[in-house]
Amino acid sequence: MFDVAIIGAGVAGLTVAQQLRQAGYGVVVVEKSRGVGGRVATRRLHNICADHGLRYLEGKGELLQRLVKILCDRQILKLWTDTIYQFSPDSQLSTTCYVAPEGMSAVAKFLAKGLEIWLNHRVESIILNNQDSWQLNFAAINDELPKSLTAKAVVMAIPAPQALVLLEPLVSEEVLARFRAIEFDPCITVMAGYSNSLQVDRPEKAILFSQNDDLAWIGLDSSKRFNPEASVFVIQSSAKFAQLYLDTEDLQPAARELLASAAKHFIPWLDTPTFFQVHRWRYAFPIRPLSEMFLDVQTSLPLICCGDWCGGNLVESALQSGLSTAQRINSQLQNLSLPGDNFFDSL
Ligand SMILES: Cc1cc2nc3c(=O)[nH]c(=O)nc-3n(C[C@H](O)[C@H](O)[C@H](O)COP(=O)(O)OP(=O)(O)OC[C@H]3O[C@@H](n4cnc5c(N)ncnc54)[C@H](O)[C@@H]3O)c2cc1C
Repeated sequence: MFDVAIIGAGVAGLTVAQQLRQAGYGVVVVEKSRGVGGRVATRRLHNICADHGLRYLEGKGELLQRLVKILCDRQILKLWTDTIYQFSPDSQLSTTCYVAPEGMSAVAKFLAKGLEIWLNHRVESIILNNQDSWQLNFAAINDELPKSLTAKAVVMAIPAPQALVLLEPLVSEEVLARFRAIEFDPCITVMAGYSNSLQVDRPEKAILFSQNDDLAWIGLDSSKRFNPEASVFVIQSSAKFAQLYLDTEDLQPAARELLASAAKHFIPWLDTPTFFQVHRWRYAFPIRPLSEMFLDVQTSLPLICCGDWCGGNLVESALQSGLSTAQRINSQLQNLSLPGDNFFDSL
């Protein structure tokens, strides 16, 4: 039996796991996807990679600043730009943006060092075993993988609407109502590649669209890489646009529409890529986050929910929420000495 099972290998889950592992707990992280990172995501396409989730890290906030510094010292991150252009109203935002030449998922891989992580394990249900342990049951993928595990404490480091499904049989209607109140905006991301012979004769590495029906962001993703083989743009839709395609199976027409919008508003040849891929984020950005740093659902054994939707809505709140959750779980178990916000140093 594990001391703590953490559902979700995003930034929040990995942070909780590192805190508790470094203190001496027996920790396992279970993740439904093939890799770690969650919304900190990088995809490989045609010999080049593209960040289809987290775009960059800003050197803002004490905790994030420390992480950025350590990652820069280890050459995992580099400065990308200090200016984000804003389209309508025409302006420029001054902010230092750091990116990973190997793809932003390198940040998650750093946070995952030394952890026991079970990939391809989607938790389908959770039950209380005789009041002395939790049992996590996995969706069957093949007969070789374990079907369940047990732990003394559980952390759900997943978006609130996904936690809600697992919590429904376990907690009161009052607690469920708190989860139902937390909504997320969706986003559709298109990663599109173009021949290097097409000249990107624009100074902007990234453009933010705040008042566009279709577009939220266009970034020249290949400018994050060393010697890219192609020009790759990442185009992120507005929430309004993504809502139209929430249940559509074939996202190619949506991708084509976004490429046409990008061509209209940025560079005319953007609607004729050599290759492209599209991804839908059903839970991209929390729109009404909790003010607390985690949600303790007060069951007879420790069960805490956390993530970027606790205390904020971006990557820094995922980190902070992970730290606070580890403290709470520690106080409910053995009160060991936690590394606190120094935990990056030993990775
Ligand atoms: C397109 C996009 C752009 C973004 N850009 C920025 C940006 O520029 N700056 C910034 O600060 N933030 C940005 N963000 C937000 C940032 O990525 C998130 O705030 C942060 O990564 C959230 O981390 P998390 O650990 O809370 O959740 P997640 O990353 O969502 O992690 C949850 C994990 O749980 C797993 N999971 C879910 N259900 C189960 C289950 N039943 N069983 C097992 N595993 C499960 C998921 O697969 C996932 O890996 C962006 C997000 C998106 C989508």
